[in-house]
Amino acid sequence: MKIYSYSAEGFTGTLVSVEVDTRRGLPGPDIVGLPGGAVREARDRVRAAVRNSGFVYPVDRVLISLAPAGVKKHGSGFDLAIATAILAASSQIDLTSYEEILALGELELCGRVRPIPGVLPAVIAGRRRAIRNTLVAQANMAEAAAVRGGTLYAVSHLRELGGGFAGIRAGTTRRMRAIGDSCGAQTYGHSRNDAHHWDLGRLKGQERAKRALQIAAAGRHNVLLVGPPGSGKTLAGRCFPSLLPPLDRDASLEVSQIHSLAGQIGAGQSLLRTPPFRAPHHSASREGILGGGRHIRPGEVSLAHLGVLFLDEAALFRKSLLQGLREPVQDHRVSIARADGTFWFPADFQLVLATNPCPCGNYGHPTRECLCSEVERHRYWARVGSALLDRIDIRVPMVPLEAETVLGSGGFSTAELRGPVLQAVAMQRQRSRSPLPRWNARMEPGDVERYCVLDATCRAVFGQAVASLSLSTRASYAVLLVARTIADLAGRQQIGEMDLLEAVAHRRLAGAEEEERRFIIGN
Ligand SMILES: [Zn+2]
Repeated sequence: MKIYSYSAEGFTGTLVSVEVDTRRGLPGPDIVGLPGGAVREARDRVRAAVRNSGFVYPVDRVLISLAPAGVKKHGSGFDLAIATAILAASSQIDLTSYEEILALGELELCGRVRPIPGVLPAVIAGRRRAIRNTLVAQANMAEAAAVRGGTLYAVSHLRELGGGFAGIRAGTTRRMRAIGDSCGAQTYGHSRNDAHHWDLGRLKGQERAKRALQIAAAGRHNVLLVGPPGSGKTLAGRCFPSLLPPLDRDASLEVSQIHSLAGQIGAGQSLLRTPPFRAPHHSASREGILGGGRHIRPGEVSLAHLGVLFLDEAALFRKSLLQGLREPVQDHRVSIARADGTFWFPADFQLVLATNPCPCGNYGHPTRECLCSEVERHRYWARVGSALLDRIDIRVPMVPLEAETVLGSGGFSTAELRGPVLQAVAMQRQRSRSPLPRWNARMEPGDVERYCVLDATCRAVFGQAVASLSLSTRASYAVLLVARTIADLAGRQQIGEMDLLEAVAHRRLAGAEEEERRFIIGN
């Protein structure tokens, strides 16, 4: 019988075997195998929990060995494995008929078993190693049950281990396979993102903006919404995820693992089914946005993985933080360097930025006057930074509405705009010849040459646009990719002249002057 626990190191992690040896000598426990601070505290917690659960703590010296020794062990999730190993080693419970057990849970001094973050990646790692039996806290049950195969045991108090695993099975365990098969759809379909219920019909009179958002959703292009206060930028950003298709099973497992590591999957909750939508406040810390902290938790950029990161009032975020976004925006992952190593998390999100056009907000307003100087406007955009702005393929100017438009009907709703998006997604999936679509916004240069072929007329139009807007190589590629998405929305294999012209129009902000052009359009 071997007992395992799991140590997460960023997105990856290691299964850790927990062995216990009791021998005559000075009484008291000892932990070896490079334990982290929280793990060292485990010996005192485990001793109290064992005593308070009706068991006897061995009077002999208890040697707890965590292996592999070279891996730093983080977190408090080792308690349950250590306690189980001690009870088995001191013959208080009989686990001889179980070859391998993965045990994940934190203990309270009274013996109650608390849920821990990161159960999902741990159970997946256990399943890969063909560990058949998994023991978790009752509150982590639904999350662990998302992984199929093996047998799952859930306890809420250490004393439930009294009769060995056979005892628990009668009461509170269910077989994972049964859960995966019979009610998989319900747990899988679980969503707790109310942003997805915001309908674009609420955004009245902004049909150009809606069209831009539709294109962005179809090809997963990054978007910038610019307009004075009251022009509907925040509403547009919040409605945007309603256009996105649901996550498929693989994507759902990947996204859910990150949310599990962040401790954001609550009791009874299982996998995320809809693309995550994260809208951190501009006062959020660097750690909160990019990840890190004592226990190395994923930040907002990773929680938005395969979904949307919405930065409202983007220019108000700290400059260093906006610069920190460059790595995930370019590489689709984020690395966190610490004294004990470098960790990483996936961070492949779609960026939606909303901002005022200038510090006072009135620049470009039809009736109000902008009080900012050129230098102030320049500095304002420099905060966001040209490197980040250059990665934004679609720019949406938004204007405040006339009263009668606000009172009028809503124009296109999410349901009407979403149909073409799903069709465009299907076309991208076909091209990538895999179950996962390769988004147009993520197309490799080789694929651009293959799938964005232009005829002679289009080539002339494209050449003219690149020259007149003095677009960089990256920016001109982006125009091609957006044109590809526009053609996909119409179900056309061939990119047409109008597709290109529309893509160019979405690249630039109408009426932007030279100074903004330098920053917003990028060159
Ligand atoms: Zn201004």
